[in-house]
Amino acid sequence: MAAAHFSRRPGGIDDLRVSFEFFPPKNNELEERLWATVKKLAPLAPDFVSVTYGAGGSTRRRTLQTVEQLIGDTRLKVAAHLTCVDASRDEVDTVIREFMVLGVKRFVALRGDPAGGVGEVYRPHRDGYANGAELVGALAGHGATEITVSAYPEKHPESADFATDIEMLKRKVDNGATRAVTQFFFDNDIYERYVERVRRAGIYIPIVPGILPVHNFVQVANFAGRCGAHVPDWLAARFEALENDPQTHALVASAVAAEQVIDLIERGSTDLHFYTMNRADLSYAICHLIGMRPKSRAEPDVAA
Ligand code: FAD
Repeated sequence: MAAAHFSRRPGGIDDLRVSFEFFPPKNNELEERLWATVKKLAPLAPDFVSVTYGAGGSTRRRTLQTVEQLIGDTRLKVAAHLTCVDASRDEVDTVIREFMVLGVKRFVALRGDPAGGVGEVYRPHRDGYANGAELVGALAGHGATEITVSAYPEKHPESADFATDIEMLKRKVDNGATRAVTQFFFDNDIYERYVERVRRAGIYIPIVPGILPVHNFVQVANFAGRCGAHVPDWLAARFEALENDPQTHALVASAVAAEQVIDLIERGSTDLHFYTMNRADLSYAICHLIGMRPKSRAEPDVAA
C-alpha cells in the first residue's frame, strides 16, 4: 500500500513542506470561511501561506487587508501575490511598497490574465511590466527575499510551445525568482516530464507541484479547460454522477488527492502547494494522510 512506502522514506515527514493558498474574501460569509480555514490549517505549520491578487488588481485592497490580518493574527509566513495587468510600473511599485510597509518580503509574482478574460490577447499596460519576468525583476529591486513564480507542466495556453514557455521561466529565474509553483495538474507523469525539461534547460529552483483538491468536479473541469490543464478520463469517471451527492464527492476527492500526493512524494517531491479555495477539509485530510499533525498547543500558530 502506498502509505507503507511513504513511511519507509528515509526522511519520514520531517523533510516535507506544505504551503496553502487563500483568496481574499469579498463578503462576511466568505470572511468567516477564510478564518475558519486558517485556524484549522495553521497548526500544521506550513512553510508559508499566500494570498491571491484578483484579476486586473481588482482585490488590491482586500489582498492587502487579508495579508495584514494574517501577519497580525498568526505566526504564519505570508506571501502576497501580485500581478501587472492593467497597471503602470508606478502603480505596481506603489503596491509593492504598501506590502513592504506591512513587513511582506515574500511574493508570488504573476503577469496575470488578460484584462478581457482568459482567451483574449494579453496587452501589457503602455507603461507597465510586460510579463512575470519583468515583475520579478522589480520585486528583487525592491528587496523581496522570496519570489515565487508560476510554472506550467502542460505549458501556458498562450505559449507557442514548451521551449517558449520554459524560456519565460528561465527569464524569471535570471531576474531573481527563487521558487516556482505549478498550475494544478492531475497526471503526475506530466509533472515529472515537465520537471525533466526544466532541469535540461538549466533551471534548478524548486518546481513545487500545485495541488487542487476537487471540491466541485464540474467547476474544476470547466476551469481546467480554460487554463490548459488536462482532465484525464479516469478522473472524470471517478466523479461521474456525483453532482448531487456531496458526501460521496468529498470522499472520492480526498482519495483522489491523497493518491496523487502520495505518488508525488514517492517520486521525490518534498514540497506541496495546496490551492485550498479557502476550504480546510480536503487539504487538511490530505496533510493528515501524509503524516502531518498539528503542532503542540503550547506553540499556537494562530492568535487566540
Ligand atoms: P507569464 O509567466 O509572464 O507568462 C505566461 C506564458 O505566456 C509564458 O510562459 C510565455 O511563454 C507566454 N507569454 C507571456 N508574455 C508573452 C509575450 N509578450 N509574448 C509571447 N508569449 C508570452 N492570476 C491572478 O490574477 N492572480 C493570482 O493571484 C494568481 N495566482 C497564481 C498562482 C499560481 C501558482 C499560478 C500557476 C497562476 C496564478 N494566476 C493568478 C494565474 C496567472 O495570472 C495566469 O496563468 C496568467 O495567464 C499568466 O500569468 P503568469 O505570471 O504565469 O505569466
